[in-house]
Amino acid sequence: MTIHEKPAGSVLETVGKTPLVELAAGPLDVQIYAKLETFNPGGSVKDRIGKYMLEKLLERGEISPGGTVIEPTAGNTGIGLAIAANVLGLNAIFMVPEQFSREKHQLMRALGAEIISIPSDEGMKRAIERAHELASEMENAIVPQQFSNPLNAEAHYNTTGPEIYHALEGSVGALVLGCGTVGTLTGTARFMREKISDIYVAAVEPEGSVFGRLLGQDSEEAEYNIEGIGTHDTSNKELFETELVDEVIQVSDRNAHSEVKRLAEEEGHLTASSSGAASWAAIQTAHKIARGELEVPYNNVVTLFPDSGERYLSNNIYASYEEWVSDEE
Ligand code: PMP
Repeated sequence: MTIHEKPAGSVLETVGKTPLVELAAGPLDVQIYAKLETFNPGGSVKDRIGKYMLEKLLERGEISPGGTVIEPTAGNTGIGLAIAANVLGLNAIFMVPEQFSREKHQLMRALGAEIISIPSDEGMKRAIERAHELASEMENAIVPQQFSNPLNAEAHYNTTGPEIYHALEGSVGALVLGCGTVGTLTGTARFMREKISDIYVAAVEPEGSVFGRLLGQDSEEAEYNIEGIGTHDTSNKELFETELVDEVIQVSDRNAHSEVKRLAEEEGHLTASSSGAASWAAIQTAHKIARGELEVPYNNVVTLFPDSGERYLSNNIYASYEEWVSDEE
């Protein structure tokens, strides 16, 4: 956990080293731990890749100070990149599909980024194309492209993975992590597998998402309300490494939402839907271990809460399930 004993030189130095906190839920003999990414300065796990990718791209000379970062993003990556861009002397332009939360748009703008809205029906694929089109028309501009850039996973290989491993002194039984770009899962799981080869790794997606097909699991495509994880198109999910993952766990909107509410009411965690899904899947995994249905090298499960519920108040995240899913944002 970050102990801020000395003043930091900039907000970028406060990215990472987030707390790992034991959850009260789950069976008595299998501990569940959640890594709280809301402790990052931009409030999400994506501050890690914002810092890591831009520092590396500058180091490699792929962009120089005064240049422009252009990225397709649902919001959290935009916030993380904009923070890093401001500290490192870069400009930021984001292609943002319209359906994502209002708070994220406001925060990206507050950080001085330019937002180009992509109509919801054109989706993330179009946002990616538009980012590349714009970059090709500009001088000293780059698209970090979180969906395909190995630096995304590398950020987690170098930070999230080691932080979890050291916090538990090398004893990690199962890793249960949500998948959007898959950077968090791939980087963290790759680090962990090198250290603990028989660790159990589960990817978490919403019911209706089709990551499971990459492991040969059946999954029916449908709409879902959980934000930040899942996909209807695995063709741009280049970071998913099938050999790192044992299982893809699907979580319904209803279970994710009820877990978000439970985490707040019973455990004091102000999380959002992707955290609720991850937590629900981690609890199921812990019960399987306790029942002897799953063999793991250590009796614990680690998950990660990517961001906070405050970012989704306008989407009625803490209202009833019906109010949350019927929200038109
Ligand atoms: N949860 C939220 C809220 C996110 O914004 C993201 C990133 N899309 C994720 C989970 C998934 O993280 P990753 O992209 O590293 O798979």
